[in-house]
Amino acid sequence: MIMTPTFVTFSRNVFIPLTNICRNRCGYCGFRRDIGHPEARLLTPSEVADILDRGVQAGCSEALFTFGEHAEEVEGFIPLLNELGYHSIIDYLADMCRLSIQKGLLPHSNPGTLEKDELEKLRSCNASMGLMLETTGIIEAHNGCAGKTPEARLKTIRTAGQLRIPFTTGILVGIGENPSDRVRSIQMIREIHEEFGHIQEVIIQNFIPKPGTGMSSYPPPDMKTMKETVSLARRLLPEDVAVQVSPNLISPGELLKCGASDLGGISPETIDYINPESAWPTLMELRAMAGAQLKERLPIYPHYVKKEWYSTEIAHLLRSLSDTEGFRKIY
Ligand code: SF4
Repeated sequence: MIMTPTFVTFSRNVFIPLTNICRNRCGYCGFRRDIGHPEARLLTPSEVADILDRGVQAGCSEALFTFGEHAEEVEGFIPLLNELGYHSIIDYLADMCRLSIQKGLLPHSNPGTLEKDELEKLRSCNASMGLMLETTGIIEAHNGCAGKTPEARLKTIRTAGQLRIPFTTGILVGIGENPSDRVRSIQMIREIHEEFGHIQEVIIQNFIPKPGTGMSSYPPPDMKTMKETVSLARRLLPEDVAVQVSPNLISPGELLKCGASDLGGISPETIDYINPESAWPTLMELRAMAGAQLKERLPIYPHYVKKEWYSTEIAHLLRSLSDTEGFRKIY
């Protein structure tokens, strides 16, 4: 039987939703907006700089860049990008990552599926990157979403491994997949990690229905399903891969007893733009939830810091933020 770990890790970040324009239309998504919608956004460099400054002031170590996927495929997006002086969202992201490094936050980007040249462009200016596998199942919620085929997502995760990018992935539970899809998804992640050794954490994230979406009336997964899935992940994944649960989406106490050991990034400054109805716990609340010692980490896990899986571009900042074990330095 797995017991609560001796310590539980987390990081402090600012959430930077660079754009919410997206080529996909996932049935559960409350984040995506059409061009022309009053809430459609492509953040400007000064808006990004403002969030970064607030993050530094609040003691964060990570800038989490999140996205709609391949927005440049959406008609009307390129002119918005051109107004900022860019032709490629990846080039724009790379520059915003460099701004983040300059200001003192380690970038972690989640721009969706990427080709090898795009990953290569982002590798040197990110401490780590991420892409949720979500599921290897073929589900209705992903109908017509080019970026949500399991093949496309597994290819990006594998390519990140070839490039030795410390990587975060995970599965979404309750989006229409079945239990055997969950087993298969975790097995696929394990197989890729066994080949490349770059998966630092696997998020087991519970679906939360969003008003106004195709899945607004779908029930979220119950605690029993979440406990079984976290236990399964802990059993199937190698020890050096952390299992993460999201403390703003589910009470983590029981899940920590099932093998989760990381509570992800919480933000003292920005909301979870993907799940805006779910407030981050404060540090004090997180401590109470953990039931064990809390240990702050960076967006790159300690073993990748020790192995020096980072570029010269972030080396100086990384060394200034990490302790001798590769966790967040406590001043
Ligand atoms: S979940 Fe992500 S990929 Fe799917 S529509 Fe929303 S922003 Fe796009």
